[in-house]
Amino acid sequence: MESSSPATVSAGHGPGPAPADLLRRLRARGAGDPVTHVERVPARAGVPAPWPSWAPAELRAALTRRGVVAPWQHQAQAATLAREGEHVVIATGTASGKSLAYQLPALATLLADPRATVLYLAPTKALAADQLRAVAALELEGVRPACYDGDTPRAEREWIRRHSRFVLTNPDMLHHGILPGHAQWSGFLRRLTYVVIDECHTYRGVFGSHVAHVLRRLRRQCARFGATPVFVLASATSGDPATAAGRLTGLPVTAVTEDASPRGGVTFALWEPPLLPPDSGSAPPDSASPAPSQASGDHDDLRQVRRSALRETADLLADTVAEGVRTLAFVRSRKGAEVVAANARRSLDDAVPGLGGRVAAYRGGYLREERRELERALLHGDLLGLASTNALELGVDLVGLDAVLICGYPGTRASLWQQAGRAGRSGQEALAVLVARDDPLDTYLVHHPEAIFGAPVEATVLDPANRYVLAPQLACAAVEAPLTPADLVLFGDGAKEAVDELVAAGALRQRPTGWYWRHRERPEVDLRGEGGAPIAVVESSTGRLLGTVDGGSSHFLLHPGAVYLHQGVSYVVDELDLADGCALVHVEEPDWSTHARDVTDLSVVSVRSYVDAGPVGMFLGEVDVTSQVVSYQRRRIATGEVIDTRPLDLPARELRTVAVWFTLSPQSLALAGVQSADVPGALHAAEHAAIGLLPLMATCDRWDIGGLSTAVHADTEAPTVFVYDGHPGGAGFAERAYGTASAWLRATRDAIAECGCETGCPSCVQSPKCGNGNNPLSKPDAIRVLDVVLANLPE
Ligand SMILES: [Zn+2]
Ligand SMILES: [Zn+2]
Repeated sequence: MESSSPATVSAGHGPGPAPADLLRRLRARGAGDPVTHVERVPARAGVPAPWPSWAPAELRAALTRRGVVAPWQHQAQAATLAREGEHVVIATGTASGKSLAYQLPALATLLADPRATVLYLAPTKALAADQLRAVAALELEGVRPACYDGDTPRAEREWIRRHSRFVLTNPDMLHHGILPGHAQWSGFLRRLTYVVIDECHTYRGVFGSHVAHVLRRLRRQCARFGATPVFVLASATSGDPATAAGRLTGLPVTAVTEDASPRGGVTFALWEPPLLPPDSGSAPPDSASPAPSQASGDHDDLRQVRRSALRETADLLADTVAEGVRTLAFVRSRKGAEVVAANARRSLDDAVPGLGGRVAAYRGGYLREERRELERALLHGDLLGLASTNALELGVDLVGLDAVLICGYPGTRASLWQQAGRAGRSGQEALAVLVARDDPLDTYLVHHPEAIFGAPVEATVLDPANRYVLAPQLACAAVEAPLTPADLVLFGDGAKEAVDELVAAGALRQRPTGWYWRHRERPEVDLRGEGGAPIAVVESSTGRLLGTVDGGSSHFLLHPGAVYLHQGVSYVVDELDLADGCALVHVEEPDWSTHARDVTDLSVVSVRSYVDAGPVGMFLGEVDVTSQVVSYQRRRIATGEVIDTRPLDLPARELRTVAVWFTLSPQSLALAGVQSADVPGALHAAEHAAIGLLPLMATCDRWDIGGLSTAVHADTEAPTVFVYDGHPGGAGFAERAYGTASAWLRATRDAIAECGCETGCPSCVQSPKCGNGNNPLSKPDAIRVLDVVLANLPE
């Protein structure tokens, strides 16, 4: 470890070094310069607007008392649109004051009409509690704001239903509590004027598709009582927020995106860890000898070519803490956050014994007491450095940070800016550093700063037509009131088919007055339950509950033999009991990490849409996928070297989902110079990189999607690359990929071509979850394949 020894350590309360100076010192420490781009995001003066004339004096006075002198222009604009009855989404940056945009029209209406009510939805209880405090502090007569969620005592619920005119809740409570109990809520719903949906970009994928239907059910109940509320949504910045908000609500929505709030300046550096010297020991010599068909036990697989982002981030964290700079490092995985904290602690202790104690790790899965203690220590300056997963992104208000390190692109621009926005106390300049991981998307971004600092392209996607979501939601709706033909229009594409299926399954009965739910019990539908119940991680010797892991990732993270890290302590999994929903672990600190892999089989069910582009075809359709976590690799933590690959015996997962795929004619490949023996490696490499780049276009995670490539697929009878949604029924990701195919594949091609490696590496065409051991892969032929596709595909 090359961190220099710190001379002095400040208490972390005084002003830190200027960001530009700090960055200069950080980048001077290694051999080469790892910084590919520095963007000085300048401080911006706000553009205030006059109070809208319709805002009552009482409300203005109350807001003024709370320190709001005048609204910013975007707040006034969105508020006035909502006041005029337009559904509106305000999509501006972190801390741009989006809440005033809905508070103004909502509270003005409550003051003007003593009967009117407002419903506010937040993705988390913590955020709803924050908003409750903000509204309650205005002390407006007769508004009686109240949270109504799982924590609300029974005794208070009836009072809230009868008397509160500003109810704050979450989609789960709306789904499980308010809509089923609509009779008790009729007074509230009848007078509902505004529905506020905060942080609406979090409603994406399958969860977002569920929420979309919960909102349609809400609109349906309101309509039965004669109310037509206006929807006001707040979103992080994204591509096309109006379309996303329209899909979520099923209504035409106007977007306000021009941010007129003031902000402090940020020096934002893009950081690409250096290539390792060829003799660093972790890379075996590149020989041409291994047969390309060798599928496992391979040694040239996932060779480490770059210094790891975790190591780089740990060093940066140690360096900034040594400078007395209060720093938060965001790391995508819980494992990663633990590793960054442990490495930073070690190098700080090497420099000044005891200094390592001022660095800690934080992640969402911790038990509540542990979380509170860490938050407190950071606020008081006992801690100078914290490595965290994105658990800190929402709801928790940490202030006074001087620098933010972002280890790996967090998947969305919204998250990136939310994380970077943590830096900077009271208008001071702050430093943000994005450290690229070994990943095609990260590689692309550090070489294409315009994709980060230019106009947003990624969109929040959801797919309300997913029949695995639609059918259960229609069942819930039918319990609330019989379904009518008009409802089929409200619930949109696929609703009629879903109703027919429910009738055929005996769940609904058709009568002249509509479709009726036939059972006594309500259907059990969990909005977030797609991945199965969470798995409890339990220490065998003590029975202590260490935390939980969601069911969908448990095969990857908690398979027998997996190394599981918790608060810097390393555990090894003895047993994963899927039936009982727990994993038994013991304390052990091996010097390797574990990486699970899966294999996939796929068949085409139907084609929804296609583009015939001569030798190239681009398709969107339904597919059946069987995937199974089959093995895991052990890799040395220090070097990334592969020790071995071990088999696993876990059940396969079957899903019907949505895929995008492209085919090429063998002739076009031959013409482009791809030898027929190299076709599998070319397609496979293109598939890996294409999966890696999809999060550029749609807010999804690499783990939300899967892929398959083959030189001849039985259903397409041609060389084919498939990319599919990893959720039953699809979540909108493949559809977005299809809709932006040429931009998506252009970025994929550039990411591969721009990677500095010679034959392919994890930053371009290798995938950490490849079940075929990243074999075969051909980097140059993948570029040829994508060139053929791009040359033929219409823009
Ligand atoms: Zn590469
Ligand atoms: Zn693969």
